[in-house]
Amino acid sequence: MRRSLTVAVAAALLAVPAPAALADPAPAVPAEPAPAVPADPAPSPPAVRDFGNGPERNDVAAGVPEQAAAARVAAPEAQSYGHSRDRGYPRRTRLPLPPENPADASIKLGLVPYHGIAPRLNDLQRRSDRVSVEIIGRSYQGRDLYLVTVTEPESPARAREQARIRERIENDPAAAARDRGLAARYKAPIFVNANIHGNEWEGTDAALRTIEQLATSTDPAVAGLLARTRLYFNVTANPDGRVNGVRQNGAGFDLNRDFVTASQPEARAMRQAIIDTQPVTLLDLHGYVNGTLIEPTTPPHGANYEYDLFITNTYANGLRMEAAVNGLGYTPDKDGVEPAQIPFRDSEEGWDDWPPIFTPQYAPFHGTVAAHTVEIPLEVNEPAYSEEPVEELRRRAAINTDVAAAAVRAAYGFVRDRHDRLIADQIEVFRRGAAGEPARTVPLGIVPGFGPEDVYTTTFPRAYVIPAGPGQRSATAAARLVDHLIANDVRVERARSAFRSGGRTYPAGSYVVDLRQPKRGLANVMLEPGADISPRVSAMYDISGWSHALLWGATVEPVQSLRAHTEPVPAAAPTGSVPRTPGPLALRVDDAKEVRALNDLLAQGVAVTWDGGRAIVPARDRQAARTVADRYGVAFTPAGTVTGAVTGAVTGTPLAPVRVAAAASADELFTLRELGFPVTPVSTAVLNAGFDWSATDVLYVSSGLSHAALNPAARAALDAFLAGGGVVTRGRTGAAFNAAAGLLTATTVAGNPDGNGVVRVVSGGATGGGSPAHSFVYSPLWFTGLGPEVTVEQAYAADGPLVAGHWRPRADGSGGGQDAARGQAAVVSGRDERGAAVVLFGTEPMFRNHPKGLLAQVARALYWSSSIAGAAVTTP
Ligand SMILES: [Zn+2]
Repeated sequence: MRRSLTVAVAAALLAVPAPAALADPAPAVPAEPAPAVPADPAPSPPAVRDFGNGPERNDVAAGVPEQAAAARVAAPEAQSYGHSRDRGYPRRTRLPLPPENPADASIKLGLVPYHGIAPRLNDLQRRSDRVSVEIIGRSYQGRDLYLVTVTEPESPARAREQARIRERIENDPAAAARDRGLAARYKAPIFVNANIHGNEWEGTDAALRTIEQLATSTDPAVAGLLARTRLYFNVTANPDGRVNGVRQNGAGFDLNRDFVTASQPEARAMRQAIIDTQPVTLLDLHGYVNGTLIEPTTPPHGANYEYDLFITNTYANGLRMEAAVNGLGYTPDKDGVEPAQIPFRDSEEGWDDWPPIFTPQYAPFHGTVAAHTVEIPLEVNEPAYSEEPVEELRRRAAINTDVAAAAVRAAYGFVRDRHDRLIADQIEVFRRGAAGEPARTVPLGIVPGFGPEDVYTTTFPRAYVIPAGPGQRSATAAARLVDHLIANDVRVERARSAFRSGGRTYPAGSYVVDLRQPKRGLANVMLEPGADISPRVSAMYDISGWSHALLWGATVEPVQSLRAHTEPVPAAAPTGSVPRTPGPLALRVDDAKEVRALNDLLAQGVAVTWDGGRAIVPARDRQAARTVADRYGVAFTPAGTVTGAVTGAVTGTPLAPVRVAAAASADELFTLRELGFPVTPVSTAVLNAGFDWSATDVLYVSSGLSHAALNPAARAALDAFLAGGGVVTRGRTGAAFNAAAGLLTATTVAGNPDGNGVVRVVSGGATGGGSPAHSFVYSPLWFTGLGPEVTVEQAYAADGPLVAGHWRPRADGSGGGQDAARGQAAVVSGRDERGAAVVLFGTEPMFRNHPKGLLAQVARALYWSSSIAGAAVTTP
């Protein structure tokens, strides 16, 4: 589920529950039922959130199996799959059969295990010419992802015509809008996304049932439907989670938070499938909220949608699905099934569509004009999964499957009945973007209940420029952002010659994102700073701030006029380089790619030294530098003045591969490994079992490690490591570890744990220097009462840190709002008296692998603490 409106526990929303095998228990998700739809129209009270009682976001240790995960991060991406434009339908694929897995968590519920899906789809493809299956990617753990298309057979010529129409809708929407025959020729695409949360199973079973019914029906109405639509089913978006009985994929990521980041292969596959199919309607099937929760959502509403079109269609389909679900006849008394609820209509706030990180909040940027999360009613996952009798679980799962199938049935009936209008509205979304029309203010009452509290709007700049050359802090970061935009089907151009805008000159080669483009909403939602929405709503469902412009390390400038000779680019230009001048080479470590390059050099045994944020490579290793420059797109410069005056020897501290023992959340483990650090997961239990510290340079602590819970032997071993070891911590657990272990003198102050977003920071010091001017916080911390050994690496801006997000003082009057953080130390470093080199983060630089521009700050902390600590223990 996303969450029940009345269930207000951070763990349920954001934390990464650990698999049962881990020592640290997963946070319980409260099983309180959501309220029934009120009989009268009185507004329900605002959702109350209490993060204080739950663990902080990342306090639950990652449950990534050590060796397997390390191998997989290093493994190349699963092969690239394409949704073919040129083949007709059916597109029969004989799916490889996964080995039977009797431990598949679906089996207990009487649902289809992952290994049972391929045989059923193979069988259906044999029995029907309406069913096509394509493998569109692989999960983190290597399971195939199945996209099923259900439609009447199409010749290759007909399929090509459909592709041409689809492309015309996106690329020439004004002409498409004038073409009165277009809708009659076009099969409206419907997308059903099932099981994105692995332990919300029944969407998959409902999808399989629906596919079979449509495939085998002799009803002429079904034939009529399949002549005018294509139905796409992502049968299980998260097979790892389905098998393992957990919400996350095999890497521990919540895929329904990954759409603007696309760190996971499943999210990239969904992104491509949505781009390729361009659905007018999308359902994302979840559980469990009783009664069934059907979007549209409460405010705040994302400001980059064409919301007038979106709410009209989404609410209409929501009502259709509600009627279908209630029409099944399940009752509270007999079945324990409450009537369906629609947050937009039935709740004040707390279930919003503000961040574009969820499937139905991402798809509208690709033309979906009715998009819904649907939460089926009866809980079968934790704790019910382990506590309820099997028969009861199966009763619930059967009802849930019925409910999900009813929602799908209602949705395709809706598309059948509103076929031409949905297509016209999709065209209109793209037309407004391509024409560069101003954002519209949605009229009050456009649907019943649409009031001033629902009105959110934005102002589009004319374009965004990502400058080349001077003014660009990292060409590598710029290339990453450009490639990310292109992967999201945002058009990027490159200036052939210098141009002026807003009083400054941009050099040739600068990238331009012209907002006169069909998917300008997606471009803007990634590149605008965002907004501080603290004043407008009291409760948010998930993050409230993000910004690829401010957090991904590239310079991005909005401009209000655009006169430039540009050409479209299919990918960013190469950025790697090594200077011709002889002598040692320097690599600034300001970006994640530079970290990867450095770790690659270290792994090769190159004698790199660390010189205050720069890695220095000896002249003799020029060839190795050239290789990593090509591989990671990084630019070396002459090391120049750091060479010693007489000998020519390079200064700096010798650096070796930094071996990290990490008590960290899954996203952090993933990120540290992606950066190329050798990482060993640890926890209280691992240390208590007897941990060999000899292969560890730096201990990273953010979750799953309690100093107080260590046994005497573990504590003694830790103390021996700390005498000259490196420590990097994040968050409350990390700060508590610092205090308990007696490391740096600092008092940790916790801001409102609900606060999150993009913040302005001022940086300096050994690890903060080179950081972007913005950082990200979730449950922000700061540090006061600093001892003389402590240096401030980064501070929250004194004139108010929050740029975009939601950060109020705590509701109980105890402060902790954004004003309290003004000028406070967000990241500090120092050496304790034993020689431990320590960095404490109060920010969230690795949050969900999203803020790419902040990752190098963590790496610099690791290099610094490792190199300083190493120097301390060197015998003269
Ligand atoms: Zn869910």
